[in-house]
Amino acid sequence: MSRNVLAIGGHIGDMDLTSGPTLAKLVLEGANATIVALTAGERGHPRLSPAEYRLQKVAEGEAFATAIGADFMVLGHSEGFLPDSDEVALELATIIREKQPDTVITHWRHSKQRDHEHAARLAERARYLADLPMDHELPRHAVRTFLYGENAEDLESFEPSAYVPIPDEAFYRWVSAIRHQAFARGETDGFRHIDYYTALMTLRGCLAGYPRACAFTDHYAQNESRYSCQPPNRRALGRNSGSAPGDEKDRPRAGSIPFRNDCVGGRARDGKTCAVSPVDSRRRSDRAE
Ligand SMILES: [Zn+2]
Repeated sequence: MSRNVLAIGGHIGDMDLTSGPTLAKLVLEGANATIVALTAGERGHPRLSPAEYRLQKVAEGEAFATAIGADFMVLGHSEGFLPDSDEVALELATIIREKQPDTVITHWRHSKQRDHEHAARLAERARYLADLPMDHELPRHAVRTFLYGENAEDLESFEPSAYVPIPDEAFYRWVSAIRHQAFARGETDGFRHIDYYTALMTLRGCLAGYPRACAFTDHYAQNESRYSCQPPNRRALGRNSGSAPGDEKDRPRAGSIPFRNDCVGGRARDGKTCAVSPVDSRRRSDRAE
């Protein structure tokens, strides 16, 4: 299981919604979790000024993290103007070197929000830079697993490759914590975020064979032709056509990169302990850059 997970979002609240239930579950299992927001998301209130809303968002983000047992950090970048630059990636890389996560979660790469797309690319770049030999006061750190979460604003071409079952205790801890965020209650943009993500957990749970689940995808799964991975969504949805995840025809092809599609940080459906992903960062770094 994951022992140390870092979730990187464009705005305060993004990772709370997409990966919050998973972070709550992992914390309950003894892991350390940290939520990093690259901007506060301070421009999202219809009446409050950005300065006023920033104060509220930071307080809400801190309260949410505390309630699920995670650490919380917000960087000082401006909502709507998050640069996709090495300078910001190095900021994140330093956090990765400090926190030493085995798992990083961020936005899916394609979004109607530019800050989200930049956050995904910054997190990818930061993972690479954190493991790059360079003059740095902190030692290198290799992130083993890199996952993109499912977000209502980042749906273009998102296809799940991993499902995390969310037990009741983690779900209720998450829903209790997220209710204290005004935007999640729909008070800023009118969108029923809590209802949406609760229903999504039920939907993903139906597809994965759990009461509730969160869906993620990983870098390799989305680069199937480049990395010779099996199409993960077809494996995940295979139960609808009579095969369960783990059935012979659902296993990765010989020579492909093996990873589990049906759990993260818990137990696989066959009862065996399930690693988040066996893909190590050295392979990823060698290939991706
Ligand atoms: Zn956002």
